[in-house]
Amino acid sequence: MSSYFSIQWHITDDCDQRCKHCYIFSEGHPCITTMAWEEMLRTYAQIQALCRSLGRIPYIYLTGGDPVLHPAFWDLLALFKADGTRFCVMGNPFHLTESV
Ligand code: SF4
Repeated sequence: MSSYFSIQWHITDDCDQRCKHCYIFSEGHPCITTMAWEEMLRTYAQIQALCRSLGRIPYIYLTGGDPVLHPAFWDLLALFKADGTRFCVMGNPFHLTESV
């Protein structure tokens, strides 16, 4: 049985918090960058190809910023679900509602 290959994937800098310890905002307010959907599809394909070549199962840790704020967050999760890709979300609790 293959073992997991863990990947931390930073999909956006976007976040409405300003924690003092945060490296993203440690030097003021940088230009917020967010991955485009096409770039995410390419990255996901590269992750899958890398894991195939290593004989490992991808385990993706989505992070940012707050990954929930990425405009394609739910599209990406739908893709993971369709593929059976394991993941967890390293976000913050501020946008977690009952429906989320
Ligand atoms: S990304 Fe995380 S650590 Fe940085 S400001 Fe947002 S909640 Fe705080």
